[in-house]
Amino acid sequence: METKPVFLNGSPVVTEEYCDVHDPATGEVVARMSQVGRKETAQAIADADAALPQWRGITALERASMLRAVADRIEARGEEIAEIITSENGKPLAQSAGEVGMAVDHFRWFAEESRRAYGRMVPHQAAGKRHMVIRVPVGVVGAITPWNFPLVLAARKAAPALAAGCPVILRPASQTPLCAVALAECVAEAGLPAGVFQLIAGPARPIATELLENPACRKISFTGSTEVGRELIRGSAKTVTNLSLELGGHAPVVVFPDADLDRAVEGAIITKFRNTGQSCIAANRLLVHESIYKEFADRFCEAARSLVVGDGRTPGVDIGPLVNEEAFTVAKRHIDSALEDGAELLCGGRRTEQSGGFFLEPTVLGRVPDDAVCMREETFAPIAPISTFETEEEAVAKANDTEYGLAAYAFTSDVNRAFRLAERLEAGTVGINDAVPSTSQAPFGGMKQSGIGRELGAEGLDAFLETKHVSFGGVTG
Ligand code: NAP
Repeated sequence: METKPVFLNGSPVVTEEYCDVHDPATGEVVARMSQVGRKETAQAIADADAALPQWRGITALERASMLRAVADRIEARGEEIAEIITSENGKPLAQSAGEVGMAVDHFRWFAEESRRAYGRMVPHQAAGKRHMVIRVPVGVVGAITPWNFPLVLAARKAAPALAAGCPVILRPASQTPLCAVALAECVAEAGLPAGVFQLIAGPARPIATELLENPACRKISFTGSTEVGRELIRGSAKTVTNLSLELGGHAPVVVFPDADLDRAVEGAIITKFRNTGQSCIAANRLLVHESIYKEFADRFCEAARSLVVGDGRTPGVDIGPLVNEEAFTVAKRHIDSALEDGAELLCGGRRTEQSGGFFLEPTVLGRVPDDAVCMREETFAPIAPISTFETEEEAVAKANDTEYGLAAYAFTSDVNRAFRLAERLEAGTVGINDAVPSTSQAPFGGMKQSGIGRELGAEGLDAFLETKHVSFGGVTG
């Protein structure tokens, strides 16, 4: 079986050590991935640092042109890359194709944004002075990404970092390194100089320690669990490494009695079950006004039952496998403990018989108590717990009653209420009558324990720039 390479200083390198990559639908090994350790990470940082002067020294226009070439390469290989994503992550092919499209859009957006890293002149207060504010690349960036959106989350870091003039070392999740290999190939074909984009794979902790402790690595951009985010915060204390953290979520979907119920049901289905519920912005709690609880629950269950569970490669499949057995065990615990706490099983709840993989029926739990585990811990599975509220104030309090603050959704046709919710829901992204709010042009990130910093939008480029004040004295005239 082929061993896939890491990419070090411009060259693909196949190592003797490798890690198996499994197809979550079958449990079969689909490829082997080369592995490196702390020593090679240190060398990658040194090579990236050596590439920094050239990369930050060329014009933004030149960088933009290379980023557009990366986007074109990914787009040209779109079908193939979508198949790779499905083979290592399990999501249905159509969703993998959507992920590829979004990654392409991220590269094109940041190609454009690279030309807008504006500074400014500010008025002086003392005679003979002038003050200039300039933006410079932060330096070498380490990017650590999870398995749930393996291509798009890598693009969300690599594209703005490269656009800003920073060399990037990408370390993808062990479960899903293969689409990162495809990305590295696309970057290499686009002609970026050696050392500007490198791909490493191997044990997470030693690699992260090197990224944290090596003074030439100036920033770590991490997407993953809040638990690992906390570990990185602790680790960054030594060198005060700049961190951007995109962490866990527990998104509420609040449905008011004045909502367009068709839209609310359709939206809640999308945000709950996309990627088998394994999304940081997936609905984790459906909060429905008491007066429409029965109608909403009936219609939501009907729609959930119609979703097809199976191998993501099979046409018509809506829900693929959970990523692994551990994910299935956690999901079962969330269902069982909610039922023990008094919730009602409205539909689903069982593992479906599929060879090898861990497939869970779309599961809807009714009247789930607020203190049930699934109402507090992130449920990374196709499980929808429904709870009710009586007043807007209660709905907002319940929605905000979580340590997370990544995304929140509300369905209402009252425009005043929509504005109140937009301001009061504690989340970095609020979708009002919109279950798919993410876009390249708008910032994405978390409040509270969902993270620090923002990706995408103009803010996405900011994350990889330092702001400098340059003061000129003795200016005459
Ligand atoms: P995870 O366990 O935190 O892993 C994320 C990445 O960190 C993987 O590459 C992992 O490597 C690596 N890692 C593991 N331990 C590490 C350590 N001690 N130091 C440094 N890196 C380490 O998260 P996950 O289970 O893959 O992903 C799911 C989580 O990500 C959920 O909480 C989800 O909400 C969150 N997420 C957030 C966003 C967002 O934008 N806010 C987006 C997607 C997902 P290995 O694969 O080798 O373990």
